Amino acid sequence: MITILGGGFAGLLCALKLRKHADILLINPSPHFEERTRLHQVAAGEALPQLRLDHSLPGQFLQGWVTSIRPRNRLLEVATTQGERRLAYDQLVIASGSHTDVNRLPGAAEHCYTLDGESARKLAQNLPQRGRILVIGDGLTAVELAGELAESHPGLKVTLAGAHHPGHDLWRPAASYLRSTLEQLGVTIHQQRIEKVEAGRAGPLDFDLAVYCGGFRACPLAAEAGLEVNGLGQVLVDNYLRSPQYPEIWGIGDAACPPRAQRMACATALPMAQSVAGNLLAQLQGKPLKPFRQRFLGRCFSLGRQRGLLQLVRPDDSILPLYLWGGVGAWVKEKILSGIALGSLKKAVLDAGH
Ligand SMILES: Cc1cc2nc3c(=O)[nH]c(=O)nc-3n(C[C@H](O)[C@H](O)[C@H](O)COP(=O)(O)OP(=O)(O)OC[C@H]3O[C@@H](n4cnc5c(N)ncnc54)[C@H](O)[C@@H]3O)c2cc1C
Repeated sequence: MITILGGGFAGLLCALKLRKHADILLINPSPHFEERTRLHQVAAGEALPQLRLDHSLPGQFLQGWVTSIRPRNRLLEVATTQGERRLAYDQLVIASGSHTDVNRLPGAAEHCYTLDGESARKLAQNLPQRGRILVIGDGLTAVELAGELAESHPGLKVTLAGAHHPGHDLWRPAASYLRSTLEQLGVTIHQQRIEKVEAGRAGPLDFDLAVYCGGFRACPLAAEAGLEVNGLGQVLVDNYLRSPQYPEIWGIGDAACPPRAQRMACATALPMAQSVAGNLLAQLQGKPLKPFRQRFLGRCFSLGRQRGLLQLVRPDDSILPLYLWGGVGAWVKEKILSGIALGSLKKAVLDAGH
């Protein structure tokens, strides 16, 4: 039995690639696939169509929360609606993803929403018609949320505050475009490191509602199981994406860190899932395994629904002096999300005979 822990981008793609060829089980707490790459849209109030994991993998899906991994006994403990279950595995793929690391900012857990599933949905329900919204962060998710809220809720006064200016790691003209577009949408940008959040206040900034969009941290299961992890809690894997301690354990997506560390992104989760699915099949057929190779293409941002930005990068993820912007940037971003990311999952469903 190949057990896949987590049904996000990485886990679902891996399961869909394997389902016709191997005995598999995908475990996820919700029967719905969470399209995390659009949670800023959800936070702004957009209702998204949902893909059902149990429908995509009939008989191969278990709704449950894995509470512990016991690598020495090859066992998982899973909390399900029918109670605790203990499940044996032959091969385990850890695809439990990540969440916003609220512990990086004192007060964030108590006073901020995040772009994690439930919190993003609560944020949408509690958005006022008017008021001051503070988005804390300077990365992709902070930028996307600030743009989305400002465009879709013109009565809100949206402020973006982060230690660096937004787009600081892009080619300079691309960063200027990003900044000026946010400002045109009505976002006020503060280059300001926020040290702590209190009720209604973060440093010099007052707010009615705050959202923390700091970095991600992997789920704690691998560390709790005694697997070697890095500072972000990601399980350390070799070139084939296997744990060096337990070669029957594989790690993909945000949950795992290969020898050449890479950013937590759908752009890395999907190729990792493809690679592990291919190697699990190769192993079953007695064929040699292939090392994982990541090649990047770009970093894309949505800036509201009408505009976007694609910063092109070299295969090693270093910045190229090239970018696409405006309506073309928005179109490319949408194509990437619906065509490449979700599309690869939909294609795998069709390939699997649905
Ligand atoms: C607003 C936003 C926008 C983004 N935009 C982009 C983008 O444009 N491009 C890009 O490349 N990346 C983007 N990302 C990042 C991307 O969404 C993640 O890197 C990606 O989702 C990682 O996929 P994953 O399968 O590893 O993890 P996840 O998608 O997090 O899925 C993990 C799954 O495991 C489940 N799980 C966790 N713990 C357990 C457990 N104990 N038991 C059972 N199941 C468990 C979770 O419920 C979840 O379903 C964005 C993220 C956000 C929040």
